[in-house]
Amino acid sequence: MMTLTRAAGLVLAATASMGAHAHGPAPAAAVELSKRCAALPEGLALPENTVIHSLVLNPATPEIPEHCQVDGEINHRRGIDGQQYGIHFRLRLPTTNWNGRFYMRGGGGTNGVLIDPAARVAEGYATIGTDSGHDNTVDKAVQAGGIASFGVDPQARIDFAYNAYDLVTQAGKALVTSFYQSPPAYAYFEGCSEGGREGMLMSQRFPAHYDGIISGDPAMHLPLGPLSGIYTTQLFVGLAQRGQHFLTSGQPAIGKTYSDGDLQLVSQAVLAACDELDGLADGIVDNMPACTSERVAKALTAVRCTAEKNDSCLTGDQISTLQTAFAGAVDSNGKALYSDWPWDAGIGGRAGSTYNQGWRSWWLGAYGAPTNTAIKLNFATPLAVVYSSPPLLPIAVADSLRYSMDYDFDRDPRKLYTTSDIYAQSAASLYITDATDLSAFRARGGKIMIYQGGSDSAISTNALIGWYRKMSAAMGPQTQEFARMFVVPGMNHCRGGPATDSFDMLPQLVRWVEGGTAPESVVAKASTPAYFGVAARSRPLCPYPKQARYRGTGDINEARNFSCK
Ligand code: CA
Repeated sequence: MMTLTRAAGLVLAATASMGAHAHGPAPAAAVELSKRCAALPEGLALPENTVIHSLVLNPATPEIPEHCQVDGEINHRRGIDGQQYGIHFRLRLPTTNWNGRFYMRGGGGTNGVLIDPAARVAEGYATIGTDSGHDNTVDKAVQAGGIASFGVDPQARIDFAYNAYDLVTQAGKALVTSFYQSPPAYAYFEGCSEGGREGMLMSQRFPAHYDGIISGDPAMHLPLGPLSGIYTTQLFVGLAQRGQHFLTSGQPAIGKTYSDGDLQLVSQAVLAACDELDGLADGIVDNMPACTSERVAKALTAVRCTAEKNDSCLTGDQISTLQTAFAGAVDSNGKALYSDWPWDAGIGGRAGSTYNQGWRSWWLGAYGAPTNTAIKLNFATPLAVVYSSPPLLPIAVADSLRYSMDYDFDRDPRKLYTTSDIYAQSAASLYITDATDLSAFRARGGKIMIYQGGSDSAISTNALIGWYRKMSAAMGPQTQEFARMFVVPGMNHCRGGPATDSFDMLPQLVRWVEGGTAPESVVAKASTPAYFGVAARSRPLCPYPKQARYRGTGDINEARNFSCK
């Protein structure tokens, strides 16, 4: 593998704008770059077993300028399970306005989909993404959990855990350097959910690769999210059975345990308890740490049915089941297996006659669906196949509910930590990405911006905050000089909810990395301001532990009337 060094003599003004050429040498003319898309130069050093499948010069469209598209694959092979594997990647190299920067976007779920952040090409980035070594359209053996079946192949586990992102970064940087005859001046990684974990991975395990990282709602404790999903599934199945909610198939109807209106009652109870703790009743709980379970419990008691269940009250069983779920997965001795969850208004949300589905989609699924659609059920098979050693087979996606109900929280979590012959690394060691020593990343000048929705029901915000505090303690009082975390109250997993959930952190990350200007706040807009009954709303997102506070005058829907305190 060739050594990639930053262009010598690089000087960049603090006010460097996006789209400006970030490195010294004059860029090759567009026509010359277009010609380079015809063939790769001889002797180009790429990771072992890299094959370039195609080079295509894509003409400009209204969305994206002309660019060279490189589709490649690393280590194509047959797995021990007989399925075909390979680490696919797609690189896009703009011919007209390259800004000198390399940009990789991470994946989601258990990956297997080729990530292609082409929109950033319009901003001048050379972009890349990968499927992380398996392909959901190919690797989907039914009795091995469908798209979780790659977990049977030990190398596919490793590629998904960390290897693919490392190799694809190396291949991408080498191709960029060859194409522009200049290495990228800066490299950026961005992702949410599993992609957020991959960002964390880059800061922890491969600190040399990226100058700047945006890690959203990171699945940093990866197998523990699915484990906690099984815990909530068991709770809500019990509630469905006690409430006589069943599907026509005879399965308990998890989605029927709470109507959209019921969750709106919970959201209103949270707001009654906590909205004004930040000094402003605006439908946003900015002071989340003060919004304790005890406070919320009082407000929930106030809406408990005193007679028959109706639309304006919750049953005692609904309230206590939800409280048990929010307290987090435990074994029979009460030992925490993952994390508790913060109370926040994004559990509900109503815009006119439409209810927010973001929170319930993970734990409950849609209310009236003919099948159980809770997304957490989709992660039962990965828990069995990808995150257990050896994989627990046979299991099909159709077995997800049965597997979830049979799961024993005293016995089965151990499988995350075991190894067995060819599965030489435990799931925990492969996938839990919560190292707190970021000194190598800091030392190379790296900067990381982390964000998460306060009402993320996929991954607990409390787990992220717990990590951030540990990491800050390990890295010392100067932590904020390279790592900042932004909690987005009301936001669900990566987006959505009664929240200012629309923002792009990349421009500020670039200014931080290249100009030294740290992000004191990030202005975010509500993608659905109707949740607040207004036409538009913006807020500053604040670096933890700061929170947004109203200045006391001016429109409460405008970010400029708030400060971070
Ligand atoms: Ca408030």
